Amino acid sequence: MAKSRSNGNRNANKPTDAKLLGNAYIRAVNRATVLDLFRNGKQLSRSDISRQCDLTKPTVSAIVDSLVAEGVLKEAGMGPSDGGRRALLLEINPISSTFVGIHFGEDTTQIAVTDALGRTLAKKTADTVSENPDASMETARVLVNDALRDANLDMSHVTAAGVSVPGLVDRQTGNCKIAPNLGWHDYPISERLAALLGVDVYVANTTQTAALAEHQMGVARGLQNFVWLYVGSGVGSCAVIGGRIQLGTRGFAGEIGHCKVETPGLLCGCGKRGCLETTCSNLAIAREARKAIESGRPTALAFARKPVCAKDVSLAASEGDMVAQKIMTDAGRALGLGVSLLLNIYDPQMVVVGGPVAGTDDFFLDGLKKQAAKYSLETPGAKIVFSNLGSDIYLKGAVQMAMEKSNASYRIIKSAKTMEVEEDEWVYAKGSRL
Ligand SMILES: [Zn+2]
Repeated sequence: MAKSRSNGNRNANKPTDAKLLGNAYIRAVNRATVLDLFRNGKQLSRSDISRQCDLTKPTVSAIVDSLVAEGVLKEAGMGPSDGGRRALLLEINPISSTFVGIHFGEDTTQIAVTDALGRTLAKKTADTVSENPDASMETARVLVNDALRDANLDMSHVTAAGVSVPGLVDRQTGNCKIAPNLGWHDYPISERLAALLGVDVYVANTTQTAALAEHQMGVARGLQNFVWLYVGSGVGSCAVIGGRIQLGTRGFAGEIGHCKVETPGLLCGCGKRGCLETTCSNLAIAREARKAIESGRPTALAFARKPVCAKDVSLAASEGDMVAQKIMTDAGRALGLGVSLLLNIYDPQMVVVGGPVAGTDDFFLDGLKKQAAKYSLETPGAKIVFSNLGSDIYLKGAVQMAMEKSNASYRIIKSAKTMEVEEDEWVYAKGSRL
């Protein structure tokens, strides 16, 4: 989750007064803990906060007064009486921050401008310019400005931007090492977009932003251990273990699509052979459909007006086309082998499958579940389900990342000076959001 600016040497400003810093740190943590209670739009009284944060009432009052004075929180009227006096409720002031989310999809670039609670104020889309990341950044800049104009805002209101990209993203620099389906190589997304937009920019892989959105508002809401699995042109995963996104050393963790499962296997986009994604990605599904059509087997897919894609196969399967059903089942079974690896390694509570075909037909998921159960050692309780957040999931996750990683209102920690604790440890489990 790289950010663009303020990447200077933190130790250069490292303070020496440990006691003073310790106090600053504690204040920052307390403040962050209080704010985090409000993130989902809740209205809470000072007593509620005190109870839920295990902080004394005077401490809570000092923090709340300061947040209200800054305009981050606002009063929301009196709460119901529980037998005693009615208490004054507080909530996040929606206009205290504006966030931008950007998703560079394989075909479409999506932009959202949101309020401080992550609620969408305006949205724009355009075709992604593949092979030309500079042009894609410029497209994003234009869309962001258009969306801001629609929301009667401008860049001066924006706190931070979060970016989702289907490729390997270096967590320290925000550089995209490679995005094969976009044709991008070693491209400094974070730096370029920050220069164009003039705000901090945080960049992550699409599976990572999707996992964050799923954890915040999807089927994995609140789960401590789950794996989010993308099936599109490629296959990738992001594990959340103990409430932490597993990024790996550089941010490249989760590339299960490039684990070898066949020998010698078909040539993969990565240049190697026999990778998991050559057996079950959307490209693999479309390839098998073409083979079925060429073989002359009776299937509605033969009458497609354009080159057949995975979504067509999935839809045909759900309409009762047996050739399509077999293709989807076989692809699901092939992916099930990969999922069995995830189950054995992570022992998750849930595996959430997302991507263009998620939710369309049952054959893919049934094949997946059966094969995962067959090859994993022990799977009781590990639910395998489709994501239900749709194609906006990456955008929602990008916004969420910007909210959680950005300014002093939310990611308070970085405002105190001891915070090598930091930022790159993306923790958002309840009660440990540091
Ligand atoms: Zn590969």
